Amino acid sequence: MESVRLGISTCLLGENVRYDGGHKLDHFLKDTLGQYVEYVPVCPEVECGLGVPRESMRLTGDPESPRLVTTRTNRDHTEKMVKWAGRRVKELEKENLCGFIFKSNSPSSGMERVRVYNEKGMPAKKGVGIFAGIFMEHFPLIPVEEEGRLHDPVLRENFIERIFTLKRWREFLSGKMSVGNLVDFHTSHKLLLLSHSEKIYRMMGKLVAGAKSLPAKELYGQYETLLMDALKLKATARKNTNVLNHMTGYFKKQLSHDEKQELLEIIEQYRLGYIPLIVPITLINHYTRKFREEYLGKQFYLKPHPAELKLRSHL
Ligand code: SF4
Repeated sequence: MESVRLGISTCLLGENVRYDGGHKLDHFLKDTLGQYVEYVPVCPEVECGLGVPRESMRLTGDPESPRLVTTRTNRDHTEKMVKWAGRRVKELEKENLCGFIFKSNSPSSGMERVRVYNEKGMPAKKGVGIFAGIFMEHFPLIPVEEEGRLHDPVLRENFIERIFTLKRWREFLSGKMSVGNLVDFHTSHKLLLLSHSEKIYRMMGKLVAGAKSLPAKELYGQYETLLMDALKLKATARKNTNVLNHMTGYFKKQLSHDEKQELLEIIEQYRLGYIPLIVPITLINHYTRKFREEYLGKQFYLKPHPAELKLRSHL
């Protein structure tokens, strides 16, 4: 598989592009996640022609359509930024991005809760950075996150799962598209989808079952929307427990009474929050391999992203 390409706010990679000539290096993003993805850095303020250093900026006015103005001299850079962002998102269409990581709180790059100042100079955390807003409108299905939120292990795992799944979906789209291959894709993602949303999984099943009656563009478009909608919903301990219990059924004949009991106990300990998800997953992976359980062996739920990222090791 080619590497996953992710857009990222340039300053998070340690580049000195901030208004004060500094950066906002995020070690996890650069050094850890950076080993598994290829970044496409974007610094809206530098790329739209404002230099380094430059006067700091903020959002002002109506939070629904704020202005981007400099904090001291009150220069309005909104038009310049909007024009440039419109061109840049068109260029980014060619980059095959599977996600974007934005710098939080920035009037250009912040994805949510950016301060917008009213005429009295009072801030309300209700804005979206100008470039981030244009990006999200242009690419509504591409997973987006901010560096701060990615320090939360649940949000981190969710985002990384989404970007790797979108990558696999893109590979499917660039290969031989057929109903049979769509069924295979759907089948191998069944347990992953169930760990996020049984309801959407069922809707996708209906879509796949009626695949032959839909024009290809509509079919794949609808499937991609549902896929991304499902994965956006968090995989909770309850949903994971249901999936894990379901998987134990595949070893009914092979496991001794004691082994079955041990597996069920481990799943229960996970449900209660005593051990991380990686423990039952490792044991099930072990049995899947040992007993050559073909169906489970194809499930991306068991290996949705590189194990080295340790995304399922938190409590
Ligand atoms: S937050 Fe965005 S605009 Fe500001 S320095 Fe970082 S990448 Fe550039």
